[in-house]
Amino acid sequence: RGRAAAVQVRSSALAAAAPILDDLRLRCATPLPLLRHVADAMAADMRAGLAADGAGELKMIPSYVYSLPTGNETGLFYALDLGGTNFRVLRVQLGGKDRRVIDSESEQVSIPKEIMHGTTEELFDFIAARLSNFVAKEGGNFRLQKGRKREIGFTFSFPVKQTSIDSGILIKWTKGFAVSGTAGKDVVACLNAAMERQGLDMRVSALVNDTVGTLAGAHYWDEDVMVAVILGTGTNACYIEKNDFIPKLLHLGPLTGNTIINTEWGAFSDGLPLTEFDRDMDAESINPGEQIFEKTISGMYLGEIVRRVLAKMAQEHDLFGHSFAEKLAQPFVLRTPHLCAMQQDSSNDLGEVQLILRDVIGVNESSLAERRAIVDVSDCIVKRGGRLAGAGIAGILQKMESDSNGQVLGRRTAVAMDGGLYENYPQYRSYMTEAMVELLGPQDSEHVVVEHTKDGSGIGAALLAAANSKYAAQSST
Ligand code: BGC
Ligand code: MG
Repeated sequence: RGRAAAVQVRSSALAAAAPILDDLRLRCATPLPLLRHVADAMAADMRAGLAADGAGELKMIPSYVYSLPTGNETGLFYALDLGGTNFRVLRVQLGGKDRRVIDSESEQVSIPKEIMHGTTEELFDFIAARLSNFVAKEGGNFRLQKGRKREIGFTFSFPVKQTSIDSGILIKWTKGFAVSGTAGKDVVACLNAAMERQGLDMRVSALVNDTVGTLAGAHYWDEDVMVAVILGTGTNACYIEKNDFIPKLLHLGPLTGNTIINTEWGAFSDGLPLTEFDRDMDAESINPGEQIFEKTISGMYLGEIVRRVLAKMAQEHDLFGHSFAEKLAQPFVLRTPHLCAMQQDSSNDLGEVQLILRDVIGVNESSLAERRAIVDVSDCIVKRGGRLAGAGIAGILQKMESDSNGQVLGRRTAVAMDGGLYENYPQYRSYMTEAMVELLGPQDSEHVVVEHTKDGSGIGAALLAAANSKYAAQSST
């Protein structure tokens, strides 16, 4: 009897919480006109950012990559990849036209929280020490040519004001990094100083954003790659722009050819369908008011938004009975991979959902209806994220298309894609694709290929180090 009564109370709590879910659906809705507005606003903001620094929300940072790797590059090159939860070191032996990549090796370490919240010296010493360890293990197929210094491509996945191909100043940290003293400094100089402290004699030949590394790496194998997008912990996109469409570079004189532009689209916010949960999360973040697009669509934040919705349902309507623990009140306990696992649960009793609720947020007992409601909340947030990401990509393609008289959507164009969110979350991926098809239309979207290039940014950075090698002139025979 007691149990039956408890179940009844619980189901009426769920009924009482239902308006929260209805309201959420309404506020997170992304109908076609809204997506169209986002795509158009993205394109307009791109133009503004190309015209002048600070004219729009997008920084539109020229990468100083004027030539992409051709395939003729030869020799041993290293890459460092710092950008999210992991840090990677990599080496590649390039064999030129026919042999391309003879061999590559990499190592990955996760970045301790203390380092993410420490000082600049601590961060770069940590990196240089790992790199030094890795270099010490060089052997096998890897061989440095006589008389050369080891060269590195440095993938640094934060907004950097690039000052040349091998230097750039950190504008601000994103994605939960809060290292003191780095903003405003040249990150290559920071790395060089740390390598010197390690007694490591290497030369940084290219400093690139992860999107730029991904584009270069993918373009090496497929020349139709014109855009690269990261959908992971954070998000960003870059693309190949004609130099004469970049008014803010006009002072350099008439420029021909192309440059890769790092859009830093994470800063976009125009017309996004935001909720009280997004606003609260932003207000409590370490970068309030910044990276709103990123906070709406990327992996670091989706789980946290869902947690906030559930916390409200639990608090205001006693959802989950009394078993819900303080755990649910902890920021970032619910991670995007948990949402993903819950959404893959196709069993009748949603057993996997129950396990996650129990283990992650301390809900010991949940009814089937409660579990369903939680999956619905997740789907709502993930759908909004995926569709907005699709609108962003469509916005870039449309901008390129209208500047090129049909040279982009009238033929095969590839978008290189990397990041765990795209890679591991099938629902997110299909929402994204669906939005692109809605916006571009069935015909044009046929020409757009999204290519998953896993960990392409590391190898891309090594290739860019090779393409910008100090020794390139001597070696290109
Ligand atoms: C950074 C970008 C980066 C993206 C993906 C964002 O937080 O601002 O520079 O490309 O994350 O890693
Ligand atoms: Mg990365």
